[in-house]
Amino acid sequence: MSVNLTQYQKINKECAAANALLVAVSKIKPVSDIKALYDAGQRDFGENYVQELVDKQAQLPEDIRWHFIGHLQSNKVKYIVPFVYLIHGVDSLKLLKEISKQAVKLNRRVNCLLQVHIAQEETKFGLDEAELQELVASVSASPEAFEGVQIRGLMGMASFTENEAQIRQEFRQLTEWANKYLPAILPDNNSKILSFGMSGDYTIALEEGSTLVRIGSLLFGARN
Ligand SMILES: *Cc1c(COP(=O)(O)O)cnc(C)c1O
Repeated sequence: MSVNLTQYQKINKECAAANALLVAVSKIKPVSDIKALYDAGQRDFGENYVQELVDKQAQLPEDIRWHFIGHLQSNKVKYIVPFVYLIHGVDSLKLLKEISKQAVKLNRRVNCLLQVHIAQEETKFGLDEAELQELVASVSASPEAFEGVQIRGLMGMASFTENEAQIRQEFRQLTEWANKYLPAILPDNNSKILSFGMSGDYTIALEEGSTLVRIGSLLFGARN
């Protein structure tokens, strides 16, 4: 077991002081590690892979709030919709429609974040500004087609770099887009979720107004 409880208490305090939610990213880590953090009081956990999430959910306490933070394929949506608390990585209309369809079947409304591309790296997923604008326009034009989903905010990943100014700039870009495009579709613009900040950049993220940080390796150790 490699859960760092001292680190957990420290990060927990920093998040509370900044009014941000801490999501513990437990991908690839065993159920026993999650249970150890759960016993220390943590309730929000993030996973990246559908099968792994489904397996873990079945073995762990019911009051855990599961965040899906990976790249979600439309054909796998149905497996997590029954219990997921927040889906962070929505980056297409097709995916949003499928989540809505599966949720309506279960009489649920699933909370979603739109993933935006703020990093310089080409490899990362997410909508660019024009795509974000277009997706928001589609949703506000026909809300009845999205009754099973509620968009709550944006999620993004900064570049993997030592350049703090650049990371800051990318987080600001996300916040700017959220302020510019989301009011049209949010239930309450004052409680929008801005999901940014990971182990390497969460202190910058908290300074830049993140309301939700996703932290894995600082809590659970490196993943290799
Ligand atoms: C793995 C992952 C994290 C956590 O990364 P760490 O650097 O281990 O904190 C956060 N967000 C996403 C989307 C991830 O895939």
